[in-house]
Amino acid sequence: MTHERRVEVHPGCEAVCEFDPDLTFECVDSCTWCCQHGVLLYDHDLLELAAHANLNDATTTFRGESFVRREDKDRDAHTDDGAACYFLSEDGLCELHAEENWKPARCSIFPLEVHLDGGEIHVTVRDSAEEHCEGLDVSDRRVIDNLDSVPHNALG
Ligand code: SF4
Ligand code: SF4
Repeated sequence: MTHERRVEVHPGCEAVCEFDPDLTFECVDSCTWCCQHGVLLYDHDLLELAAHANLNDATTTFRGESFVRREDKDRDAHTDDGAACYFLSEDGLCELHAEENWKPARCSIFPLEVHLDGGEIHVTVRDSAEEHCEGLDVSDRRVIDNLDSVPHNALG
């Protein structure tokens, strides 16, 4: 079934939400799945990240785009290759979020993704999240009521 409804995500800023309005989400700390991959950084992320970390240490480029670097982790993470995001700490939390109260746009909206279609912001659930995110449909916190994590600049 196709779900589509228009929601005001910020004052004066509407988005078309293309997921079940009853979908709930609450991050499961022990999961860390979305922190096991390189995170694409938009230009505004790079500027912000430069204020919090050494970009030479923390980032890499691939096909002309910038990403947070992955590195080997000692912790017993259930990653395929033992590596995860540079900022994922041993306790499974994001160091950037914990210490700087900030994280890249792609992280702040996961498990959602945002794209422009016909000049409108559309919000969907990432296919990879449908498959791997342990936080979907495990709480009473409806995604559609908590869309303030969708930044105005989520589109890069
Ligand atoms: S920056 Fe933080 S939230 Fe984003 S992938 Fe890395 S550890 Fe996870
Ligand atoms: S995949 Fe989902 S539950 Fe797992 S850490 Fe990421 S947001 Fe949290």
